Amino acid sequence: TSGFTPPGLNGHSGHAYATSSKDANHERVQLINDEKQFTTELTSQIRRWGLQDAGFDYNVVAVFGSQSTGKSTLLNRLFGTNFDVMDESRRQQTTKGIWMCRGKEMNVMVMDVEGTDGRERGEDQDFERKSALFSMASSEVLLVNMWEHQVGLYNGANMGLLKTVFEVNLGIFGKKSAGPSQRTLLLFVIRDHTGHTPLANLQATLTVDIQRIWDSIAKPSDLHDAQLSDYFDLDFATLPHKLLVPEKFEAEVLNLRGRFVDKARSDFVFKPAYHKRIPADGVAFYMEGIWEQVQSNKDLDLPTQQELLAQFRCDEIAGAALAEFNEQARPQRKPVEGGRVVSGLGGMMRAWRSGALTRYDRDASRYHQGVYNRKREELVSVIDSTLTPLFHGQLKNLAKQSLVTFKKELLDSLKGDGYDFAEIVGTARKGCEQRFLEGAKEALVEGTDWSYDEDLTLLSEEVQLVADQCRKDETKKMVNVIERNFKRHISEPVEVALSKAAPSMWDDILKTFKSILTKAESSYLSKARSFNCTEEENATALANIRRRTWIVLRSKIDEQTSDTAFLTRLRSHFEEQFRYDETGVPRVWRPDDDIDGAFKKAKEQTLELIPRYSKIKPLDAANEYTIDSTSSESLATGEDDFDFASTLIIFSDIKAIDLSNRFRRDADAYYVEAKRSTVSSVAQ
Ligand code: GDP
Ligand code: MG
Repeated sequence: TSGFTPPGLNGHSGHAYATSSKDANHERVQLINDEKQFTTELTSQIRRWGLQDAGFDYNVVAVFGSQSTGKSTLLNRLFGTNFDVMDESRRQQTTKGIWMCRGKEMNVMVMDVEGTDGRERGEDQDFERKSALFSMASSEVLLVNMWEHQVGLYNGANMGLLKTVFEVNLGIFGKKSAGPSQRTLLLFVIRDHTGHTPLANLQATLTVDIQRIWDSIAKPSDLHDAQLSDYFDLDFATLPHKLLVPEKFEAEVLNLRGRFVDKARSDFVFKPAYHKRIPADGVAFYMEGIWEQVQSNKDLDLPTQQELLAQFRCDEIAGAALAEFNEQARPQRKPVEGGRVVSGLGGMMRAWRSGALTRYDRDASRYHQGVYNRKREELVSVIDSTLTPLFHGQLKNLAKQSLVTFKKELLDSLKGDGYDFAEIVGTARKGCEQRFLEGAKEALVEGTDWSYDEDLTLLSEEVQLVADQCRKDETKKMVNVIERNFKRHISEPVEVALSKAAPSMWDDILKTFKSILTKAESSYLSKARSFNCTEEENATALANIRRRTWIVLRSKIDEQTSDTAFLTRLRSHFEEQFRYDETGVPRVWRPDDDIDGAFKKAKEQTLELIPRYSKIKPLDAANEYTIDSTSSESLATGEDDFDFASTLIIFSDIKAIDLSNRFRRDADAYYVEAKRSTVSSVAQ
């Protein structure tokens, strides 16, 4: 289809290379296929083209521009190559990739970039960007192909792509340390030029645009003042409409071709400054290296237009869904934080959540799936970060409420009589946990990893604590009742025994004490059975009972042996001996009566009582009672200052002496009175 005839001479190849042949010159190689793989054939193809020994005597040119702007047509015209041209009649799809041909009878490697016409732009962006960068980095002259009407239109002429490519090109290949700065010629070819706008004007517009793009790119910090002119030269050419003015078109193409072949021309494009200085036999390796760098560069993995759009729209849709969700959730926060159990909270949360997600899915699922899914996950996590505290708050409040109800139920049930404590606790506990579980299950939201196990465990522990405390209180109450009963039973026998003051009075008292204590202990044990008390608790309670009953006994004895009471008792004992005869008749003393003898006898008999009272000491050792104050039982009561042995002492020795002295004085008074009564009777 190539309609041009090359001039007889071309600038480069004055001689033929050994392995080249006319046929091989027409061979094309797909440098990069649509899998983005670099060909393994380039070295051998360069040999077949006869260029492997060309040294630096070759050039590389590539093309950049939107789809179907006649790029391949232009290259074929300029270089006599045979790149695929879109056939209007067949409209076949050209394969994606970068193709390379050798210029006809010229040492030029020509690269054509093909895309997929008619497909959505977004899908091609990755390849488009990478192939553009590759072309720019590997060629000496980059033909920037565009329609005249695209001039000045940022999007229309791929200027956005150019910006990215400039930026990444500078980032990867722009390092000054990478060697002598390599310049590239950007040759703008303006197609379908009508002539209404002179080239100079188009050139000015494009120059300003390109400069502006350059100024706006992000530059590496060490290249922050890099100038466009440090890396690129700009040149411009126009071509008339190929179909409307075919002759003019062909003429201008020929003229343009001259700039690639005629070294003598001042506007010859292959200036030495653009040459990469790679010997021809190293070009394959060199280009493959560039492609690898382009491929591995993360800066090029920019989101596609589709992704960008999806990000924007999915964010917007998620934002709207979230706003509605927040509106719904907000009013429930305060009550939950305030400790209230919000009834039906789980149902509400499920509705808000699924409402937001349904809304998001409805509007966002049409967009790029990767972005849609990612944004959905984000939305879910934001929603759940609002719901999770509500869930935990609800659980906490539920547990608190359940515990309060448990306590109340327990105490109510304990008000009556004849209850089985263990049964009451069991029932109340079951009800409490059931109420909690009911509420907790209601609050669950599917799709979350929420769990109420921890709260349930905590609640059970608290219920146990309350039950334990309650049992302790009940046990204490029971021990108090036992103590009161004991007091009632022990009082009279003690009073009677102490007032009789028989030698066996301690035997009698201790025997009675023991029998009442045994009853008290068994009454405790029979009730404690339903309390589920531990062995240790029982031991403690029993030790407590033993000690407290002993103290009750002791204080009854103290009451009966207070100084006044005891002295009264001694006095009345003495009186009975001294003032009454054996038959209980009051004595009237006569002068010949043996007052002294009777007085002495009564006094001595009475004084004998003091040691009997001074210590709890039964005649029969079998009646002795003791509390081992070092035993674990009594230690368990927590009062280790209880010294049982000392509680057996009613009077100390000094006290006994004091009491007997006081009694003697009383007795002496009786003696004097008796004496006086005889004197008075004699005097009558
Ligand atoms: P490419 O996709 O940029 O490589 O474009 P092609 O070279 O395959 O050409 C695409 C279509 O544009 C073909 O039908 C060509 O005949 C047509 N075409 C080629 N050059 C020109 C031109 O200069 N002006 C116009 N109007 N059409 C052209
Ligand atoms: Mg093409």
